Amino acid sequence: MKPPAFTYHRPATVADALTVLAEVGRDGKVLAGGQSLVPVLNMRLAAPGHLVDVNRLGDLAYVRCESGAVRVGALARHAAVERDAAAYAALPLLRQATVHVAHPAIRNRGTTVGSLVHADPAAELPAVLTLLSGSVVLASASGRRTVPAAEFFVGPLESALRPGELAVEALFPVPPPHTGTAWLEVSRRRGDYAVCGVGVLVTLDASRRIAAARAAYVSVGPTPVAVDLTEAVAGQPADAADWTAAGALAAARVRPEDDIHATAGYRRQLVAVLTARAAASAVSRA
Ligand SMILES: Cc1cc2nc3c(=O)[nH]c(=O)nc-3n(C[C@H](O)[C@H](O)[C@H](O)COP(=O)(O)OP(=O)(O)OC[C@H]3O[C@@H](n4cnc5c(N)ncnc54)[C@H](O)[C@@H]3O)c2cc1C
Repeated sequence: MKPPAFTYHRPATVADALTVLAEVGRDGKVLAGGQSLVPVLNMRLAAPGHLVDVNRLGDLAYVRCESGAVRVGALARHAAVERDAAAYAALPLLRQATVHVAHPAIRNRGTTVGSLVHADPAAELPAVLTLLSGSVVLASASGRRTVPAAEFFVGPLESALRPGELAVEALFPVPPPHTGTAWLEVSRRRGDYAVCGVGVLVTLDASRRIAAARAAYVSVGPTPVAVDLTEAVAGQPADAADWTAAGALAAARVRPEDDIHATAGYRRQLVAVLTARAAASAVSRA
């Protein structure tokens, strides 16, 4: 199918983009990589009267490590984030998760910030932002606001973005020293959205005992689901922590539902198993 008719705008500056977005309000949609929006238009699940193409806003095509965070501009493609050596050194989880986003062709075009705004509960980056307690910077003709991940993901395919706003940047805070991370997921084929996926972050104290452990999951709820695993493993030695108990704790906390891809019970089992495996992998990198 072809998309419904729309008026196409291609602003050359962020200021121009914000002016157009203010003018078109609810009837406008930002077009970034188009990897999610174009299928949505073609299937006529949305019919905005105006598309505001931000692909000329080259100033927003950055990945920067500064002030204890990796800052990803709205035009940074998944592939740029995946390959950025400084971002990987500061925050390996970004690459660990991004390599599971679709296929290379889609990662070459799709943007990290677009993925966050799209707010698919099966997508990796919303869960990463949630796990790290990151945030998204939203700009409009009337100013800027920063929305924490816990408030940004409102429901399936629904973010806190308001009409007239452009998401300009995502902030992924770098975890404290002696923290290891890992991402694991199960999908029917490599590159498909995950049936269940987990990112884990484990922080050790000076005597290499578990100080904190946290996980975030995809495809087990309407938004990314974060679970604090610390109570299951606090104070245990890094090389002998009871990650099976942490997996059981997580499985008891999530509320997956049946759908055409998997039963709730299978997803809960994946939460338990993937949590234990990912945590063991994360701790080996702490
Ligand atoms: C076959 C296929 C498989 C995929 N598999 C996965 C997967 O496994 N995991 C995964 O995470 N993703 C997957 N994706 C989605 C992909 O990651 C997209 O790149 C991403 O979801 C959206 O990024 P985009 O830049 O293409 O955004 P677009 O498609 O351009 O936009 C998506 C939505 O976000 C809005 N938007 C985008 N950028 C901004 C902005 N800066 N400010 C305000 N609004 C904005 C748009 O208006 C639209 O509503 C898949 C896509 C395809 C086609």
